Amino acid sequence: MKNVSLNARQAAIVPIAAFTANGDLMKLKTALNKGLDAGLTINEIKEILVQMYAYAGFPRSLNGINTFMGVLDERSQKGIKDVVGKEPSSMPANKSSIELGTEIQTRLVGKPVTGPIYAFAPAIDQFLKGHLFGDIFGRDNFDFQSREIATISALASMEGVTPQLQAHFNVGLNVGLTEAQLRSLIAVLEASVGRKEAAHANEALGKVLSSRQAEQRINITRSGSQPASQGSPEHFTGSVLVDTLFKADDPARTSGGRVTFEPGARTAWHTHPLGQTLIVTSGTGRVQRWGGPIEEIRQGDVVWIPAGVKHWHGAAPNSAMTHIAIAEHQDGTVVEWMEKVSDGQYNQLPSAQQK
Ligand code: MN
Repeated sequence: MKNVSLNARQAAIVPIAAFTANGDLMKLKTALNKGLDAGLTINEIKEILVQMYAYAGFPRSLNGINTFMGVLDERSQKGIKDVVGKEPSSMPANKSSIELGTEIQTRLVGKPVTGPIYAFAPAIDQFLKGHLFGDIFGRDNFDFQSREIATISALASMEGVTPQLQAHFNVGLNVGLTEAQLRSLIAVLEASVGRKEAAHANEALGKVLSSRQAEQRINITRSGSQPASQGSPEHFTGSVLVDTLFKADDPARTSGGRVTFEPGARTAWHTHPLGQTLIVTSGTGRVQRWGGPIEEIRQGDVVWIPAGVKHWHGAAPNSAMTHIAIAEHQDGTVVEWMEKVSDGQYNQLPSAQQK
């Protein structure tokens, strides 16, 4: 029965991180002794105490390290020989702290981390990536699961950091800690630190689990539940109805819509960064590549427009046409609009129909 709850070594991380973060040095002393007894090495405990400075500040971290030195002195006087443990390997020579940290942060969070706060204060983004996730998390003598147990325990023991606590429960699940392990972390928190801290952590974990479950849910958009809109006169000629069927839901990149062109209506010239598929669902229409012949398309035809190819599509002069258009976005863009298709360009005869 692996992974049912935290093992003794992992459980011992919880009070060490919590009491370092909240500055309760008397209780920290007890927690450090228990941690060494549970099999944490001296160097692993040093990693917890050093990492804590990123979450609780240098004063708390330094006080924790001082307390640990005292504990080790007392134990060696009693003749207890504690295991020193591994040193971290040297950092990769071929990448900067920021490059390494960006990789680690992306892996832990599950996607690249961006946001208005980092655009507003780029220095904090640089320090988070380069220093916290590069220099600290890049030290490989303490695994990511253990580091997350430490971070969650610290944040649960601090006031006013609920968003960060939730974010780290998420990271904990991303690095493979199970719900049972996180619940056992909270049980250790309750027994060693306090009820209030445990309740706070429990609430945060509940929110994270329910939002992760919501992401797993199959989503059905019922027919007719979303109103169609008129195609913008900037990008279309004539009467065009655009019905967004589905949007790209990260990490997916594909979106699609149903577009109905009244006779004579058409798009402007445009390109798609990753190409586009058109499935004609009714009527007769036209499609043309820049420099190529106008081609007729009919109900049931499937049209592939390659990436970057300038083209237009629309109805025939005497028939409406509806197609479903499917495209993948690149950096949020699915289309680059260009000039309108003139009547002269539109009214050329389509090329001979092919069977
Ligand atoms: Mn197109």
